[in-house]
Amino acid sequence: MIGERNRIITIANQKGGVGKTTTAINLATALAAIGERVLIVDLDPQGNASTGLGIERRNRKLSSYDILTGTHTILETVLETAVPNLFIVPSTMDLLGVEMEIAQQPDRVFRLRRALSGSDALAFSYILVDCPPSFNLLTMNAMAAAHSVLVPLQCEFFALEGLSQLLETVDQVRRTVNSSLDIQGIVLTMFDSRNNLAQQVVNDVRTHLGEKVYHTLIPRNVRVSEAPSYGKPAILYDLKCAGSQAYLQLASEVIQRERQRKAAA
Ligand code: ADP
Ligand code: MG
Repeated sequence: MIGERNRIITIANQKGGVGKTTTAINLATALAAIGERVLIVDLDPQGNASTGLGIERRNRKLSSYDILTGTHTILETVLETAVPNLFIVPSTMDLLGVEMEIAQQPDRVFRLRRALSGSDALAFSYILVDCPPSFNLLTMNAMAAAHSVLVPLQCEFFALEGLSQLLETVDQVRRTVNSSLDIQGIVLTMFDSRNNLAQQVVNDVRTHLGEKVYHTLIPRNVRVSEAPSYGKPAILYDLKCAGSQAYLQLASEVIQRERQRKAAA
């Protein structure tokens, strides 16, 4: 059984470019800003979350690869970021090979869960796992380790189709490796109010998924897309921009839902 002393949230969508990493970085920063101790685990070989938080490649001696192969602990791999209260286990290209390396191991899906069950993970009240854009062994490790899945969904025509695939995968994970896996919520990203189709997608997603969809809409915002090239979360790069404000609002929704969940438990 996974402990409930912290909240482990996997940020997943099998599509690339939908805002997973941007959501991981900015939600984590917003949670850290209100005093939560937050850890991001970068599970994407691309390492965009690590780069976006200003962790240079030459400083990534140990990474999530070493967690999955079981040679190192969270405490040994974790790095500070420029954001107070925000820490990261970075990713390196080694992750590309990890699937081959552990594929034959009976516990291959539970490597991350085991690492996050250790006492050093309890130093963080929120752990956000940034997933690669596919349903591979890395994403399975993330889903097996998490309390819940947070799904960024880009406001575009094929959004719902991809979402039903994802929800099926979550069901499958529940039946096989993590019966208590919850849907944390669905966040609509890169919303463009001038685009009629985007509004239609918002309506459709809300009709199908109701309260699971956050009220906060993340707007398409150029400042948000510029921030990673400065190695900063948008919230540090330009706090006042609409994108940063939306991520702050999302964080308060996440916190509010956590309070309600705990009160109901
Ligand atoms: P994923 O991790 O799902 O592949 P990213 O978070 O990396 O997606 O986002 C894909 C691209 O879109 C990146 O270049 C990112 O900077 C940009 N992007 C993400 N969210 C926004 C936004 N709200 N407004 C503008 N650009 C965004
Ligand atoms: Mg990404």
